[in-house]
Amino acid sequence: MNPIPFIWTNDDIETGLHDKMVDQMAFLDRFGLKGTFFVVPCRAGTKPLTGDPKLVTLLKEAMTQGHDIQQHSTTHVCIENGTADLRMFDLMGDGSKVDYSEKRFLWERIWEVDAIKAQINWGRQIWIECFGKQSTGYRPGCGAFCGNMYKALEQLDFQWASARLVSMTGWMWQANHDDYPVRLEGPVKPFRQGKIIEYPILDDVAFRVPQDQVDRYVELGWQHWQACVKRQAPYILLCHPSGLNFDGGTGYAIHEKLLPRILESNMAIPMTLDEYHNRVVAGKFPLATPEQAYPDSQKLPAWHILSDKQKGNPYRPAQA
Ligand SMILES: [Zn+2]
Repeated sequence: MNPIPFIWTNDDIETGLHDKMVDQMAFLDRFGLKGTFFVVPCRAGTKPLTGDPKLVTLLKEAMTQGHDIQQHSTTHVCIENGTADLRMFDLMGDGSKVDYSEKRFLWERIWEVDAIKAQINWGRQIWIECFGKQSTGYRPGCGAFCGNMYKALEQLDFQWASARLVSMTGWMWQANHDDYPVRLEGPVKPFRQGKIIEYPILDDVAFRVPQDQVDRYVELGWQHWQACVKRQAPYILLCHPSGLNFDGGTGYAIHEKLLPRILESNMAIPMTLDEYHNRVVAGKFPLATPEQAYPDSQKLPAWHILSDKQKGNPYRPAQA
């Protein structure tokens, strides 16, 4: 077994959260780790990132220290980038399901390429104002995505995305589905969606964990780690400031126990997500094989009139 990339990622730093960012950087320093922070350009209802110069200065300082800072949606309204991962609706509540049902036509309008591109570009422009250049990567909120999001990212010169969710176990336990099994449910290695390389997210094992369950989630994180080592896939861990600070800091308590265990296993190559992307592009780490990366997602099913399997069907359009 070879060592695998260990990538610590964090979502939802935004306007007003300067002090949380300071805490997170100090925490990582204790382990000698560099993080990948997905920062929200303009959370709906709040001032854009340009309105918080103290945070922007800190983020620039973080970059010079080797941390990786990347764009996290534009307004962080889940629906902005496509349907939220359906498994995520359990965490978002029944209201979000009703909303989806009632506003379906409107959402579909929002997901057309012109609309989704303009929305992502809004955040991108704020980003360029803050940092002088766009980010190379992009992560939507809530694991939301659609095919048009990847097309828009491609047109806006992003290189990679990190949107898909590999394991829902941590999330589901935290949504009171205690019987949800420990398993990986999609490709763990990166794959291409058009020209964009997608880096699936493993799990957040420290989202809203009560005090008495810290050890259970440390163990879950450790099981994920072992599964990734076995598959020789990257371990892309996710956390949020609100989760790290939840219930007196249970998220920090979990990472406090999990990180040294991983680092001391001698199987971890710590790096940022952008660094990993550069090494993947350079051929140092493999992409998922076509069989591993949602193998049938691009192929029309046999029952569809446009599928190759329907050649000879007299109802098939001539140009298909
Ligand atoms: Zn987020």
